Amino acid sequence: MDDQLKQELTNWLQFYRELGIEEFYRREPGTAVETGPIPPPAAPSAAARNDTSVKTHAGSPAPRAATQLAAPEPAPAVPAASPPRVGVPPTVPAAAPIRPPVASFSLFETPAPKRTGPETLEEIRSDLGDCRRCKLAGGRKTIVFGEGNAHAELVFVGEGPGADEDEQGLPFVGRAGQLLNRMIQAIGMKRAEVYICNIVKCRPPGNRTPEKDEIETCSPFLFRQLESIHPRLICCLGAPAVKTVLGIKEGITKIHGQFYDFANSKALATVHPAYVLRNPREEKILREDFEKIREFLKRK
Ligand code: URA
Repeated sequence: MDDQLKQELTNWLQFYRELGIEEFYRREPGTAVETGPIPPPAAPSAAARNDTSVKTHAGSPAPRAATQLAAPEPAPAVPAASPPRVGVPPTVPAAAPIRPPVASFSLFETPAPKRTGPETLEEIRSDLGDCRRCKLAGGRKTIVFGEGNAHAELVFVGEGPGADEDEQGLPFVGRAGQLLNRMIQAIGMKRAEVYICNIVKCRPPGNRTPEKDEIETCSPFLFRQLESIHPRLICCLGAPAVKTVLGIKEGITKIHGQFYDFANSKALATVHPAYVLRNPREEKILREDFEKIREFLKRK
């Protein structure tokens, strides 16, 4: 051991003795880290004096980093900044920054469990939140998300909430809704068995047809609902629903009653109940199309 190192060690020992610390032990180089407090620097033993590896470590400026890996270090018994009261201050290594253990288990590194199915309607509703994504938000009272059986075989897609729906937060509860309810009952089903929603979830001012940008903003939520429910049949009520869901621009009176593919479901277009209320002679179209729905759902 060279004289300078000897002097440094002597200073260290003197420093600790003055603090009342008399006993020291020596950790072998490369030993795994314990969780207890950091021991003071190793006192050289007789064996160590002939041990070149110990010599190397003792002479190296930062032995702690080499032997303690990256384990979190408890606060040292003596703050590194406290000067010893002896004349020559020992070179106390500065406290290493507290770092997380290198080989530790971290919750943040654990991959999130993989989703096994589509998202739920509750998840979609919660993502929608207090939606302000389009200009319809300014005029609505209530968001009308949709209502019914989350596992329905039959989903109705209308245009957008009217005054009654906006008031109650439920789809098709006004006069058009009452006609829809009668049609559902006419094919031997209950309203609670099906799911009912719209291409936009907020009432357009004055019940106007939803505009392109409003449909583009809102319809992704509709498509997520359809994916979540995965019905056997989607019934589009009126031209805007047909255009949004199926991308068909042709007149509803031409294409109603026909079945189309939509993802892994089928879709059928029919006239909107509100149109039938204004044109009572057209109720026949609605009845015929609902009979097709009944026939379709009878097939298993
Ligand atoms: N008309 C619609 O298109 N949707 C409703 O929810 C009510 C009336």
